[in-house]
Amino acid sequence: MKVCIIGSGLSALTLAKALVNQNIFVDILPLNKNYIPNKSRTIGISKSNLDYFNNEIINIKKIIWKLKKIQIYSDNLMNEKLLNFENNDQLFSIVKNSQIYEILNKSLLSNKFYRKIKFTKKIKNLESYNLIVNTDYKSFFTKKFFSKKIVKVYDSLAYTTILDHKNISNNIAIQIFTKRGPLAFLPISKNKTSIVYSIYKSKNNKKKLDLEKLIHHYNLKYKIKKIHKVESFQLRSFNLRSYYYENILAFGDLLHTIHPLAGQGFNMTIRDVKVLINIIKQKINLGLPLDISVNKEFEKKIRHKNYIFSNSIDFIQEFFNFERKINNSILSKSVQVIGKNTSIKNFIINIADNGINY
Ligand SMILES: Cc1cc2nc3c(=O)[nH]c(=O)nc-3n(C[C@H](O)[C@H](O)[C@H](O)COP(=O)(O)OP(=O)(O)OC[C@H]3O[C@@H](n4cnc5c(N)ncnc54)[C@H](O)[C@@H]3O)c2cc1C
Repeated sequence: MKVCIIGSGLSALTLAKALVNQNIFVDILPLNKNYIPNKSRTIGISKSNLDYFNNEIINIKKIIWKLKKIQIYSDNLMNEKLLNFENNDQLFSIVKNSQIYEILNKSLLSNKFYRKIKFTKKIKNLESYNLIVNTDYKSFFTKKFFSKKIVKVYDSLAYTTILDHKNISNNIAIQIFTKRGPLAFLPISKNKTSIVYSIYKSKNNKKKLDLEKLIHHYNLKYKIKKIHKVESFQLRSFNLRSYYYENILAFGDLLHTIHPLAGQGFNMTIRDVKVLINIIKQKINLGLPLDISVNKEFEKKIRHKNYIFSNSIDFIQEFFNFERKINNSILSKSVQVIGKNTSIKNFIINIADNGINY
């Protein structure tokens, strides 16, 4: 069994590692051989996804930072928590994208089932692969087979950076729905906290954005020593209409991209890996070939769930965007009331942890 993965981002390496763990040969075709993830980017991984990652993909226990609480605030109701999620062990874990990437890359490079192949304009022998998995927007396959999607371009940019601060017991993440957009403080160690600030572009406000000033304004607890270089990304969300073409499957953010406010994009991909690997395992156990039927089954099992999940993240974004526009705390107050109901809170925690009944 042989799989070719096009692209070499986090999704590509995660899937590659899950496949070589099943003794499946994987050739990776990086379109940009010098790509390494940005050092200011972090990823929040849910508890059940982390367990799956550690047990079935690769052990990342050493590089994660555990969060026990997530607190949600709104500018319209500052000083009062909208929601408070907690778990004495761990609710979510934060890790640097570049560190997961390095661990996966190092382990794959020494694996006999894994090969990194050079990209040449005429890639030969693609017929020799049972499956081809495309994770890169710039690949030939994307333009040809995966251009039909349901897209939403947010009128926002995400800004990310890392804060260096004095040591504190740092295991509470804070998300504030500010007038300019959602701002998250995501602890990654006792003295470092990552920032993700999605800011709506304002037509009226032509002044240069002073991110440092905004961070200081909303910072509730850190004695900040340094704010690292700020990176920015255009935000959009989309879902591909069709997940595959024959034995070519789209994967990762190419399949579904969502707003980062709930920290769920890569979590969706980990759930996809779980589903795909289970289908592949079943085929192998039954002595069946890996072919287009894997893609068909994968799409059937997960596309509708991914679509509903993406839309619920979009709904949260629209909800707080609406509240911001009407400049009234009525919506926040209703969230506060609903959030006091333990069953509803547990329901939200379960969806954030496991997705929609995966
Ligand atoms: C601000 C922000 C915060 C996020 N936080 C979370 C979170 O907390 N939890 C979570 O689950 N998800 C989060 N996500 C989503 C998560 O980062 C993505 O789902 C994940 O990184 C996608 O990996 P990928 O390999 O599918 O795509 P990509 O990383 O886009 O890679 C796809 C392909 O593009 C290439 N590529 C990518 N960037 C470049 C570049 N700059 N130059 C050249 N080639 C490039 C790669 O080599 C690869 O071949 C966040 C996203 C953003 C924007």
